[in-house]
Amino acid sequence: MPRPIEALIHQPALAHNLARARSLAPDAQVLAVVKANAYGHGIAHAYEALRSADGFALLDLDEAQLIRELGWRGPILLLEGCFEARDLELCSRLRLWHAVHCEQQIDWLAMHKTHEPHRVFLKLNSGMNRLGFTPSAFRAAWTRLNALPQVDEISLMTHFSDADGARGIAHQLAAFRSATDGLPGERALSNSAAVLRHCSDADVRGDFVRAGIMSYGCAPDFPEHDIHHWNLKPAMTLRSRIIGTQQLQPGDTVGYGSTFRAEAPMRIGVVACGYADGYPRHCPTGTPVLVDGQRTRTVGRVSMDMLAVDLSELPASCGFGSEVTLWGQGPRGQVLPIDEVALAAGTIGYELMCAITRRVPVHVEPLA
Ligand SMILES: *Cc1c(COP(=O)(O)O)cnc(C)c1O
Repeated sequence: MPRPIEALIHQPALAHNLARARSLAPDAQVLAVVKANAYGHGIAHAYEALRSADGFALLDLDEAQLIRELGWRGPILLLEGCFEARDLELCSRLRLWHAVHCEQQIDWLAMHKTHEPHRVFLKLNSGMNRLGFTPSAFRAAWTRLNALPQVDEISLMTHFSDADGARGIAHQLAAFRSATDGLPGERALSNSAAVLRHCSDADVRGDFVRAGIMSYGCAPDFPEHDIHHWNLKPAMTLRSRIIGTQQLQPGDTVGYGSTFRAEAPMRIGVVACGYADGYPRHCPTGTPVLVDGQRTRTVGRVSMDMLAVDLSELPASCGFGSEVTLWGQGPRGQVLPIDEVALAAGTIGYELMCAITRRVPVHVEPLA
C-alpha cells in the first residue's frame, strides 16, 4: 500500500467559489486566476471546474498552452505579459491577451510580425511599485501602443497592494482614476480581496475582476474574516492517516529537539505527513488538525515524513488508522481552513497550497 497521504481537489468547491466571485461582481467579467499550477491544485483539475469563468489569467506560457490544449477557446490573459520578444509569437498563435507593463514590451510589440493584432492590458503602477508604468508615464505608453498596427484593443489594469488590509485601496483607486481619465478601454483592477471587500464600488469592479485565492477557498483577509464569513469552501484537502501511536508519561518528549514535553500521561498519534509533503515545518505545537473529523493539535516538531498529534482529549476510537485532515474538508463535512494552519506557520494559505510536493498523490472530487 502506498503512504496514506493525499491531496484531494474539490471541484464542486472551486465552482462554488467562482460563483461567489460572480455574485459579488455581477456586471464584471470574471477571470479565474490559475497561475502557479492553479495555486497548486493542478491546471487541468481547476480548468474543468472553472470553465464557467469568462477567461483565465496566469503567467507561465506553458500553462497558457495547456489551457488551449484542454480546449479553451476564450480569453487567456498573461498577467506579466511577455518575458522576451519571441513570446509574442506564442501570443499570436494562441490568441493570448497580455499585460504590457514596461517600455521593453512595447519595443518588442513594435517589431513583432503578425496578421492578428493583439489585445493588451496596459498596466499602471498605482502605488504597489512592482510592475507597471508610473502615472506620469502612463498616457505616453498608451499613445505609443495605440499607434501600433500590432495592437488591437487596449485595456487598462492595475493591482492593489492592500485590498485585504487596513490601508485599503482608496489611494490606488484615485491614482488609477486620474491616470486613466478619458482613456477608452475596459478596466481591470480587482484581485480576490478587492472582490470580497471593495466591490460594492462599480469603479472597483470595473469590466474584469481577477479572482485568484478566493476561488481556492482561502480568505485573503484572515484572521479578520474567515472562509465561513465569505461563504467560500476549501478546494484542497490535505489528508493522511495515523500510522503509529505512543503512550507518554510525564516528562516524555516528542520528536527532534524534544521541543514538546508531556506534563501528564497522554496519548499521541504519529501521522504520515511531513515537510517533504509540503506541510510547513514552521508549524509549532498547537497547530490545529482534525483526527477522524475532530479538532486537536500537533505536538513537537514536524519532521520530514511525520508529525505527531495529541489524542488525549479524543475518543479511544481515534488511533491507529484514523484519518487526519491537515487542512481542508474533514470526513463528515468538518472544515479546517488552510488559513488557520498558515497563520500558525507564520505564512498565508497561498504559500501552503503552492507548496504541496510531487510525492503527494492528487485525487479529485468531481463535479456532481
Ligand atoms: C495573482 C494575481 C491576482 C490574483 O490575486 P488573488 O489575491 O489570488 O486573488 C490578480 N492579479 C494579478 C496581477 C496577480 O498577479
